Amino acid sequence: MYEKIIKGDLGADVKIVDLRTDTISRPTTEMREAMYGAEVGDDVYGEDPTVTELERRSAELLGKDDAIFVVSGTMANLIAMMAHCSHRGSEIIAGDKSHTFRLEQGGASQLAGIQTSTIKTKDDGTFDLDELRNMIRKNPDIHEPITSLILVENTHNLCGGRVVPLEWLEKVNGIAAEHGIPIHMDGARMMNAAVYLKVTPRRIVRDVDSVCFCLSKGLGCPIGSILAGSADFITKARRIRKVLGGGWRQAGIIAAAGLVALETMIDRLKIDHENAYKIAKAIHQTKSNLFKVDLSRIQSNILLVYLDRSKVPVKELQRRLQSVTDTDDVRASVRCSSLKDDCVRFVLYHEISEEDVRLAIKKIQLVIREYDNKFQI
Ligand SMILES: *Cc1c(COP(=O)(O)O)cnc(C)c1O
Repeated sequence: MYEKIIKGDLGADVKIVDLRTDTISRPTTEMREAMYGAEVGDDVYGEDPTVTELERRSAELLGKDDAIFVVSGTMANLIAMMAHCSHRGSEIIAGDKSHTFRLEQGGASQLAGIQTSTIKTKDDGTFDLDELRNMIRKNPDIHEPITSLILVENTHNLCGGRVVPLEWLEKVNGIAAEHGIPIHMDGARMMNAAVYLKVTPRRIVRDVDSVCFCLSKGLGCPIGSILAGSADFITKARRIRKVLGGGWRQAGIIAAAGLVALETMIDRLKIDHENAYKIAKAIHQTKSNLFKVDLSRIQSNILLVYLDRSKVPVKELQRRLQSVTDTDDVRASVRCSSLKDDCVRFVLYHEISEEDVRLAIKKIQLVIREYDNKFQI
């Protein structure tokens, strides 16, 4: 329906390749069939067998005691922060480009009364460990908040889907353990990290106390995230989810899609990674001075392209990629998102086929050529 409306404006022969984000990915046929046939019950009473099974399988996959199915990544992170920071006057240490700090409305402070102190996020999604060490309040006196949680993100969204090194996570764990502070991983796309590193999901989260991942992004589910950790942590999380209005009833209908995702959608993420790299390589090969990609940084399903902002206004670029003129021989409307005024983001997911990638590359190259010609570079 949505596609038809846009197509109506563009002409019937135009293919839309929507690369704004992976949250727009739609459930597979297998998921829809599983949803139709799902056994359900009231999950607030712990009586939905499909939800219970999804939680059990998720905990097993992650090597944690227990897990809880929640509405979104934002809710999973908020619950995690609230469960770890149960004292008033708590402080979280997080990277300054972390999703929780930048893109979740400051929920930790707004709803939970938790202060976030930030460390500069490096280009690879990590932060400096000496700074972390210095920042932790060792014996907080009456003036200071109590450092109660360290937050890491993997893959790192605003750093362009960077996979943080396992050795770095191990070191963060070492420092946290010295001070008895738990670590939460915002692992919205942690399955992409596991696939990139060719290790099990369990290995990715070995050094953290709790982790969440999104079923609704590259894994293709319509709704939902998983939060996992110790049994005690999940008991607290269950109570907090309820006060946030997230206690749900016959949620087995959507958990059924989650079970299919765990079975069928993780290994295939490598295709999205290959596709992101293909597009990046094609942009790199134009040798444009106005459009830059750093191939060494493309690790997962997110691709950032940096623009010469004085010559390529980001909104204008987005409109041009999306439009198809009568004289264009490439019949593709490509959508992307803008992170800043000098950067656009392309994100790959299961519905983007080989043919879509081929068309998107042609269209992007056409637009880059137009800009290069305009400025005679
Ligand atoms: C998408 C995302 C979230 C939030 O997930 P929602 O389901 O959109 O609330 C959290 N962290 C990261 C790193 C994300 O990319």
